[in-house]
Amino acid sequence: MGYLDDEVKRLQGILDSIEARVKTLEESQFGGSKPKTAKEIRMILIGPPGAGKGTQAPKIKEKFSCCHLATGDMLRSQVAKKTPLGREAKKIMDQGGLVSDDIVIGMIKEELENNPECKGGFILDGFPRTVPQAASLDAMLRERNQTLQHAVELQIDDSLLVARITGRLVHPASGRSYHSLFNPPKKAMTDDVTGEPLVQRSDDNAEALKKRLATYHQQTAPVVGYYQNTGIWKAIDASQEPGQVWKSLLAIFDGDQKKASSAGGGILSKLTHRS
Ligand code: ADP
Ligand code: ADP
Repeated sequence: MGYLDDEVKRLQGILDSIEARVKTLEESQFGGSKPKTAKEIRMILIGPPGAGKGTQAPKIKEKFSCCHLATGDMLRSQVAKKTPLGREAKKIMDQGGLVSDDIVIGMIKEELENNPECKGGFILDGFPRTVPQAASLDAMLRERNQTLQHAVELQIDDSLLVARITGRLVHPASGRSYHSLFNPPKKAMTDDVTGEPLVQRSDDNAEALKKRLATYHQQTAPVVGYYQNTGIWKAIDASQEPGQVWKSLLAIFDGDQKKASSAGGGILSKLTHRS
């Protein structure tokens, strides 16, 4: 009996130390004390005007309880307040050009540092739109010992965007968007949630769209190449109906979970198959 008790204690000791070792290995593998299965997200949505970034981002925000930072919404709020920056930005936005890199980089930095919602991660919508913005984002994240998990490109043919953009209706305060045909509000020109009026953006017309698309292909398409090189780029067919686009996004997040659990199992299986 004495021998058996001793043997059980000895084996228990070995098990405890293996468990502690596995925990340490998992923590170093997953960066910090949180394994990857914990819901945290750091991602960007890339896509031309009307691709569906603003439609999908709130759903991701709800799923992960993170912040949704849309540089277009931030700039429009400056325009609405008629700040000096807003006055300057409005001209550029209405012409379908891009506001300076420094301004939008500053806005994102400020939010990532001070917005408490960003503690649970972030979705960037409409940023980065140029390669220098992408490089600045990387530098910002490096300083925080963080990396991006996904750069998701919403792919769609230009020809489908005219109808989406000319029918878009927005609730300025929240950035919620509707469509007069594809996603109409319950009551005409009224936000479902607040009952406040919806508006059409001043740049949502066919002429400005042409320029915005040219700007996108010239300056933002290279951002796709940037993330293809880093290995975190994924593409989704954004011409599908919104529910299908959401399912494609979920498949990307499910892929994460599978990777995390098979990596965790990897350590254990290495231990159990050692002898
Ligand atoms: P869309 O819904 O068409 O993708 P956004 O609401 O993201 O447009 O942006 C509206 C406008 O705000 C852009 O056309 C551009 O002028 C300006 N803007 C938004 N984000 C950026 C950015 N990251 N860099 C430069 N300009 C930007
Ligand atoms: P972005 O933020 O990429 O500029 P939005 O999400 O605002 O685009 O979508 C542009 C317009 O198209 C909105 O009126 C929206 O209701 C509509 N829309 C978004 N996704 C789809 C979709 N998958 N199919 C049809 N219409 C869509």
